[in-house]
Amino acid sequence: MYDVIIIGAGVAGSASARELSRYQAKICVLEKEEDVCCGTSKANSAIVHAGYDAAEGSLMARLNVRGNEMMEQLSKDLDFPFKRNGSLVVCLHEDEMSGLETLYKRGIANGVPDLRILNREELRAMEPNISDEACAALYAPTGGIVCPFNLNIAMAENANANGVEFYFDTEVTDLRPVEDGWEIRTSKGTYKTRYVVNAAGVYADKFHNMVSNKKIHITPRRGDYCLLDKTAGNHVSHTVFALPGKYGKGVLVTPTVHGNLLVGPTAIDIENKEGTNTTREGLNEVITKAEMNVKNIPMRQVITSFAGLRAHEDGHEFLIGELEDVKGFIDCAGIESPGLTSSPAIGEMVADILKEKMDLREKENFIATRKGVLNPNTLSKEERIQLIKEKPEYGNIICRCEMITEGEIIDAIRRPLGAKSLDGVKRRTRAGMGRCQAGFCSPRTMEILARECHKSMFEITKSGGNSQIVKGINKDSL
Ligand SMILES: Cc1cc2nc3c(=O)[nH]c(=O)nc-3n(C[C@H](O)[C@H](O)[C@H](O)COP(=O)(O)OP(=O)(O)OC[C@H]3O[C@@H](n4cnc5c(N)ncnc54)[C@H](O)[C@@H]3O)c2cc1C
Repeated sequence: MYDVIIIGAGVAGSASARELSRYQAKICVLEKEEDVCCGTSKANSAIVHAGYDAAEGSLMARLNVRGNEMMEQLSKDLDFPFKRNGSLVVCLHEDEMSGLETLYKRGIANGVPDLRILNREELRAMEPNISDEACAALYAPTGGIVCPFNLNIAMAENANANGVEFYFDTEVTDLRPVEDGWEIRTSKGTYKTRYVVNAAGVYADKFHNMVSNKKIHITPRRGDYCLLDKTAGNHVSHTVFALPGKYGKGVLVTPTVHGNLLVGPTAIDIENKEGTNTTREGLNEVITKAEMNVKNIPMRQVITSFAGLRAHEDGHEFLIGELEDVKGFIDCAGIESPGLTSSPAIGEMVADILKEKMDLREKENFIATRKGVLNPNTLSKEERIQLIKEKPEYGNIICRCEMITEGEIIDAIRRPLGAKSLDGVKRRTRAGMGRCQAGFCSPRTMEILARECHKSMFEITKSGGNSQIVKGINKDSL
């Protein structure tokens, strides 16, 4: 019998797990995929929004600003990449200036610090590749960029270090209220708990509607992206947004924390909750719209494209709290953008709700910090030489594009909630994220995975499930 079961190991579920792990309670997270960060949390713009977008007085606005405030300290405590690079919302026509003014006023009302409207010259001095048409911009110095994978993984690892259990490849299929709580049926058996936290991303409406008479509806809203090579990473230094439209914040151009350039997303409503394929039309739209705000984007440097699904609830608001008509069931639904930014604050809110409901006591031995996978590039030359002497695997480069060593890959696999697949290694270390997109390092990373996980090469997958890479040996057919 658990005190709390969280459905979903994205940023919302993992942040809730981490914040709840401060208290004396028996908690577990059930995740249908093979790893944390396999849903929307792995495919987004990775922006830590300043907080001028969400409607004044909304929960979205409050948690956005609070999450932004928390992110810097959290990145130090949990050792994941975060940078406050500042954001710009570009105005291309004088007659759209009222749109910028509206955002500025909303930002002030939401409590966003240091907002400023820049004129043409100030903007150009700050961002030389901005479009010649740009006449003004809203500047938010508190805007930032983050590694979404390691934010998610770090919160989950820290929750785990504080006693939260994680069960992967465990799909929740049914929920039933029982006398003292809930019975949760999964693909791997039945669990019992006093409280349920529904952090199932685009599937959160399914679980909400299973138990409540007040139905909600989530539309998967697809966003397509192009990711450019690091040679294009300095094309802009701030996150450059277009003025927002009906479907959200529009197409942006931004550096990433790892030095790439990211261009996107679209906003296309679809029905398939697994429909993360990109389309030619979507990517063309991204390119056309990005070039309206930033000139000379070196689109020949695109190394990959991808898409993510926003969990767009009809009311466009975060739905967080115990359901009025269903006691013991805490929704964490409709977590679309700025959900990544807000995640630390979402975790705090979920934990506060349950602390009060369950009269939870704080642990004396809560571990507040966590160390990420050691990146030898952060060491001095002497330290690196010493490291290689002690652990020669740090002298063996596996991914040539990102210069990732065998030592880092072993660390990613062996740590708690460690990587089990090629994508798991990629999200933790960046092996396979470079310009050759894993063409060179895949077989070598697979060999390390097979050795470390005591599996054969036939069992190593790209991303769990049936995504095996080696299906047979050519000579078998001879
Ligand atoms: C195109 C796009 C751009 C975005 N850009 C930004 C941005 O720049 N900044 C920002 O702040 N936010 C951004 N967001 C929003 C942000 O990515 C999301 O708000 C956030 O990742 C949602 O996290 P989550 O944990 O709610 O969902 P998810 O990460 O999807 O996690 C839900 C988890 O639940 C699991 N699950 C589902 N059903 C079951 C089941 N039956 N049993 C067990 N497990 C289950 C899933 O496998 C998944 O792992 C963007 C989103 C998109 C799509």
